[in-house]
Amino acid sequence: MADSEPPVNHVALPRKWRPRTFDTLVGQEAVARTLEHALESGRIAHAYLFTGPRGVGKTTTARLLAACLNCEKGPTATPCGECASCREIAQRGESLDTIELDAASNNSVEDARELIEILRYAPQRDRYRVLILDEVHMLSKAAFNALLKTIEEPPEHAVFILASTELHKIPATIVSRCQKFSFRRLTDAEVVERLRTVAEREGFTVTAGAAAQIARAADGSLRDALSLLEQSATLSSGVVDERRCAEIFAFVDRAMLEALFAAAASGDRPEILAIAGRAREEGVDPRHAAREFTSMLREILVASAGKAERDAGKAERDAGKAERDAGRGDGEKDDRAARLAALVPYDSLLRAVSLQLETERQLARAADPWIVWEMSLLKMAELPRLRALEESLAGRTPPAAPPPPAGDRPRFVSLVPAPPPEEAEAPPPEADPASDFVRRVMARRVTIGTYLTLATRISEKGGELVVEFPIDKASARDALQKPDPLKLLNEEAGNAFGRPLAVRLTTGPPVDGDLAAAAREVPPQVLARERATTRAQDDPMVQKAMALFRGEVVDIKEEKR
Ligand SMILES: [Zn+2]
Repeated sequence: MADSEPPVNHVALPRKWRPRTFDTLVGQEAVARTLEHALESGRIAHAYLFTGPRGVGKTTTARLLAACLNCEKGPTATPCGECASCREIAQRGESLDTIELDAASNNSVEDARELIEILRYAPQRDRYRVLILDEVHMLSKAAFNALLKTIEEPPEHAVFILASTELHKIPATIVSRCQKFSFRRLTDAEVVERLRTVAEREGFTVTAGAAAQIARAADGSLRDALSLLEQSATLSSGVVDERRCAEIFAFVDRAMLEALFAAAASGDRPEILAIAGRAREEGVDPRHAAREFTSMLREILVASAGKAERDAGKAERDAGKAERDAGRGDGEKDDRAARLAALVPYDSLLRAVSLQLETERQLARAADPWIVWEMSLLKMAELPRLRALEESLAGRTPPAAPPPPAGDRPRFVSLVPAPPPEEAEAPPPEADPASDFVRRVMARRVTIGTYLTLATRISEKGGELVVEFPIDKASARDALQKPDPLKLLNEEAGNAFGRPLAVRLTTGPPVDGDLAAAAREVPPQVLARERATTRAQDDPMVQKAMALFRGEVVDIKEEKR
C-alpha cells in the first residue's frame, strides 16, 4: 500500500533543480554570457524583456537576475546565495524588494497603477525594487499605456524584468525601451542530458530510451520534462525505463477519449464534466490527453472525409507515431473512428478540430489546464448535431461506414451495422437481441452506449446478461458500474430480450489475446482497482494479467468502493 513504500522524491524536481547561477542555466548560454558581462561591468538596465517558448528558463533567469542585483555582496554575476535577499528569492521567487506577478491575472489598468505606485518608493532593504512581470503580453492596452511612462522614465532604483512567450503581442513602444533577450527552445538532447544528470544526483536511474521519451513529450520545455521525470520516478522503484514512462504519462485511455467525444457529440455537458473529473482524479496529464484527443479527432475527421484521404492520413500519422502504434490495433482504431465519425456532421468535426488546436495552444500556458480544456469541450458540445442519431442507428450505412470486420476477429458490437455485401440499401432485420440492446442504450444515452461498444462479449447466462470488457478497457466497465448507467442498462436489457435480465459487467482477456501486451498497456491504477474488486479476482485471465504486474502495483492507492 501507499504508506509502506515511500516514493523516491518528495520535493518538486523542477523547483529543486532550478538553476541559481548562470553556469547551470541549460541551453541559454548567449543570454547568460551577456547578462554576466553586463553585471560585471556595472551596466544595469532599467527594463529587460525575456522572450521565448515556455519552460526554457525565462522566469528562472529573471529571478537569478533579481538575486544578482540585490545580493548583499552585489550587484554581482555570482550571487552569494546566503544573504537575506538571495535566500528569499531562492525560497519563494520573491523578496522584500522583488515582486513577481503574473500579468495574466493582474492585467487591468488599476493593477498597473498600483505597481507603478509601489515602484515609486525607494527599496526597503535592498539596492533595487525589482518587478518581474510574467506573461506580460496579457496586459490590457490601458495597462501597457500606464506602464509605458514609468518604463520611459523609471525611478533610479526601479528594474523591470518582463517575460513573455508572445513577443508580437507586446506594443512596440514597450519593446523598444527594453533590453531584449531571446530564449531558445531546448533541443531534446539538451533535455535528455539534464534529465540524466538530475536523476543521477537524485539517486535513481533513467534509461536513455525513457529520457528520450520524456524529452519528446515535454516538447522543449525543461520544466515539463522534470515534472514528468518526477511523476515517473515517484511510481518507480529506482529505475525509470521506457515501459514505466509509457504507463505513467504516454498512456491515455482511449476509451476515456472516445467517451469524451461521444459526450461532446451528443451535447451531454454533465457527462463531459464527469469524465474530465475522473481523468483529473486519476492524474491524467491534461496537456498530453488533449494532444491525444486532437489526434483522435483528426482520425475521426479523416474517416469522415473518405477512404482516399484516410489512407494518406494514416501513412502520415504512422510516420510520426510509428513507435507508439507499432502496427498494433490500427485497424480496430480506424473502424472505431469511422463509427464515431457517423455521430457528427463533417462541418462540426472540422470546427471541433480547429477548436481543439486552438485549445492546445492555450493549454501551453494555462495555470489550470483542466479548466481550459473543459471549457473547450463544453464549447464543442454546442456545435450543431445535424445528422440524426436515429439515422445511423436505423441501419442505413453512412458514407464513411467501415468495411465489415474480419470474421476471425473477436466480435465487436458495432454502432453502425455492417451492410450485407450484396444489398447495402436494405437494412438487415434485427434478429440479434444483444445488438438490439446496444442500439437501445445508444439511443437513450450516447455516452453510455459508446462505453458499451467497447465490450467484447454480451451473453445471457442464468438470468443475467454478462457484458465483458477486455482488461485493457476496464475503465469503460468502471464508468458503467455506477447506479445510473446500470439502471439504464438493466432497463434496456429487459426491453431487448423481452424479459427481466440483470446486467453484470465483467472484464476478460484483451482483444488480441496478448496478455503481456495488455499488462504493459493497462495503467497500474486500473490494475490496482481490478485487484480491489472480487469479481475481477475470480477471473483467471485477469488474475494472470495481474500476475504479470505483481509487485509493481503495491504503491498504488486503491479506490474505496
Ligand atoms: Zn546574496
